[in-house]
Amino acid sequence: MAVLDQLTSQQAIDLENKYGAHNYHPLPVVLSRGEGVHVWDVEGKQYYDFLSAYSAVNQGHCHPKIVDAMVSQAKTLTLTSRAFYNDMLGKYEQFATEMFGFDKLLPMNTGAEAVETALKLCRKWAYEVKGISENDAEIIVCENNFHGRTTTIISFSNDPVARKNFGPYTKGFIKIEYDNLEALETALKNNPNVAGFMVEPIQGEAGVYVPSEGYLAKAKALCEAHGVLFIADEVQTGIARTGKLLAVDHENVKPDVLILGKALSGGAYPVSAVLANDNIMNVIKPGNHGSTFGGNPVAAAVAIAALEVVKDEQLAENAETLGQLFREEMNKYIATSSTVNLVRGKGLLNAIVINDDEDSDTAWNICLALRDNGLLAKPTHGNIIRFAPPLVMNKEQLLDCVSIITKTLKQFEN
Ligand SMILES: *Cc1c(COP(=O)(O)O)cnc(C)c1O
Repeated sequence: MAVLDQLTSQQAIDLENKYGAHNYHPLPVVLSRGEGVHVWDVEGKQYYDFLSAYSAVNQGHCHPKIVDAMVSQAKTLTLTSRAFYNDMLGKYEQFATEMFGFDKLLPMNTGAEAVETALKLCRKWAYEVKGISENDAEIIVCENNFHGRTTTIISFSNDPVARKNFGPYTKGFIKIEYDNLEALETALKNNPNVAGFMVEPIQGEAGVYVPSEGYLAKAKALCEAHGVLFIADEVQTGIARTGKLLAVDHENVKPDVLILGKALSGGAYPVSAVLANDNIMNVIKPGNHGSTFGGNPVAAAVAIAALEVVKDEQLAENAETLGQLFREEMNKYIATSSTVNLVRGKGLLNAIVINDDEDSDTAWNICLALRDNGLLAKPTHGNIIRFAPPLVMNKEQLLDCVSIITKTLKQFEN
């Protein structure tokens, strides 16, 4: 069949099944177009996107300003590698460091690469600034974390599906319970080899776990007291998703190292970054780290446009307002529901917990029914469904979505 022939949904699914590695289990829907809060399948059916590509498409699908920046830069210069300077990277670095309040930015492509970068940066800082002896540095992480898929990152995951048969694992990580300050204090105390504490301000993949109020601020204070870097992985929570530019802003926390990805490009292109001040970032010298595509001019142009959209369209404020409305409306439903236990989240990063076993297929079946009713969402872990629409949604659309969701949930009440 010719590459440009329009496939049916079933044909597209069959092709992926036959020729693609089975490393995902997609909801059966085949999308061919997106605009703003909507996507369309190959048969032309319209859906609200309530996943936003795991919060990469915060600015909405195919945002014209981001697409224009990408197309125009793609016609001019796409890649120089960092062997030479390009005329976009510096502009982007200035823009992003001013917006997030750091001295310097290190550009990468994917979230996992940015996490790896932060870990390497933390270790090098530990040896050259903090004075830990070589190879002894340890980094504290949290149980049920999700930081990506590289061999080092899965080394400190506790998801058996992500880990099993991928060993041997990278050493140098200490795992503690999330949202547990005592556990953090114990791990920090009497251990001069701790270099950093890496944490998701809300655990997204784990099921949108929002820590207790004050957790991030107190964790940051503990890190400071022990001379340990506080590393915030805001790949999913950052860029307006939770109702502030960064999720740490809810507690006025300034991380030592900030990791961004996903919505840094509005979902148009893989762009990630690590931000830190000079006292940390300056341990990285030419040759220590890099990436052929990291900091390419298309990425730089796209990221500037994507961040401008966040500011110009006040997406953080919108996420805050609509998020409160969403949880209010869902709570009204939950009050009379035996299918849904609770809704939780911040801004427009929310989840509902289904009243069934972790390994039941109720959440999956609800997502299939949501799809039939015109809204796309996916279970995170077992019985939890994440709801994360693009932040360019308006109130009327959100209420329309609430009615689709509640109508669908009613089909599952008994
Ligand atoms: C998605 C995600 C990553 C990994 O990003 P990729 O671009 O998929 O490599 C890392 N950390 C968090 C918190 C994420 O949500």
